[in-house]
Amino acid sequence: MKNTDPNAPELITSLIHHPYQPPADFAAPQPGVFKASTVIFPDVAAMRGREWKDKTGYTYGLHGTPTSFILEERLCALEGGAQCVLVPSGLAAISTVDLALLRAGDEVLIPDNAYGPGKDFAVNELSRYGITHAFYDPLNPSDLAQRINPATKLVWLEAPGSVTMEFPDLCEQVRICKERGVLTALDNTWGAGLAFQPFDLLGDGSLGVDVSAHALTKYPSGGGDVLMGSIITRSEPLHMKIKLSHMRLGMGVGMNDVEAILRSLPSIALRYRAHDLAARKLAVWLQQQPAIAQVLHPALQDAPGHAHWKALCGAHNGGEGAAAGLFSVMIDARFTQNHVDAFCDALRLFKLGYSWGGPISLVVPYHLRSMRGGSTPHLKPGTLVRFAIGLEAVEDLQRDLEQALQAMERAAA
Ligand SMILES: *Cc1c(COP(=O)(O)O)cnc(C)c1O
Repeated sequence: MKNTDPNAPELITSLIHHPYQPPADFAAPQPGVFKASTVIFPDVAAMRGREWKDKTGYTYGLHGTPTSFILEERLCALEGGAQCVLVPSGLAAISTVDLALLRAGDEVLIPDNAYGPGKDFAVNELSRYGITHAFYDPLNPSDLAQRINPATKLVWLEAPGSVTMEFPDLCEQVRICKERGVLTALDNTWGAGLAFQPFDLLGDGSLGVDVSAHALTKYPSGGGDVLMGSIITRSEPLHMKIKLSHMRLGMGVGMNDVEAILRSLPSIALRYRAHDLAARKLAVWLQQQPAIAQVLHPALQDAPGHAHWKALCGAHNGGEGAAAGLFSVMIDARFTQNHVDAFCDALRLFKLGYSWGGPISLVVPYHLRSMRGGSTPHLKPGTLVRFAIGLEAVEDLQRDLEQALQAMERAAA
């Protein structure tokens, strides 16, 4: 007779220790999702013999499963790196690099236009461990050179900078650091491995950064629904240093999130190109609007650092180059903050929200003063607004901007 008692011991145990094994030769477009905290060993000798640091087997969920190993390898291919560590967010990629590579008495240099929370981590957390920081002018390599001193152990780079979008002379910055023997870490979220090769900036293997940190939250996810970051290197000792700190900090990622990134990754180049084309169309159109004092997009002729973008991102031989889907504008100073808020509120397709890289276009008004310590003579006076262009039809986005600009003009009249 069939056992119908839900508390029967033989039923309870058989559901946990079920003997069925599916046939092994399953193949499908997407890799399987292997989820684990516990990894099971066949015997004690295997358990004792297992070394978590090498990737020939599995030890514990925190150190990865087949699913995360696959994503790590694909991200190395994307960015031209050799080793990858996954972390729970882009910000965790920045903080983990800092914590792994710096100690009390060291100094880290950060561009003044770097991703804000990364600066904040240095100001409010690294300082508590006796690690000092300084912000350098991203548009002036000699300012960076002058600030490097014997305590400087790490220089952050970002191309272009967050929100104000200045494109630095990345090659010169890396050369300066290499000459002085200082490690370089690039926040490569904007370039995403597509606009330029972080470990081979000149295309001849002669110049590259030491570490690339990437907010996978943005283009690799492409959905606005996952937080994750990666830390990619091309040196085994450097990778091991980061991997050990990463392990001690307990920076695990969930395999459902890894799977979401694996599902989006094959289309990243197509999406990046689509975001880029739409953003450039809108940036050029906005340049012609009387309410807009300045458009900050590295592919525009008069943008701060445009020549460096052109040289690095494939636009130097008459090509179009690559430039992601982000730009900012300075709204003319005759509009007050209230008028600019009315503009943002009037947008219908552009939603108010942080982050970028997903299908929905986003807008954020910023306060330049609170973001920058250094002077910004290259920025026109006005109010800063950042757009992240999604995948909507560009005509619809332009109409949306048009009606919101009209609403702002009415509010100011
Ligand atoms: C979004 C972003 C980050 C942080 O990523 P999160 O996953 O949101 O923590 C870091 N750097 C840059 C340049 C970013 O745009």
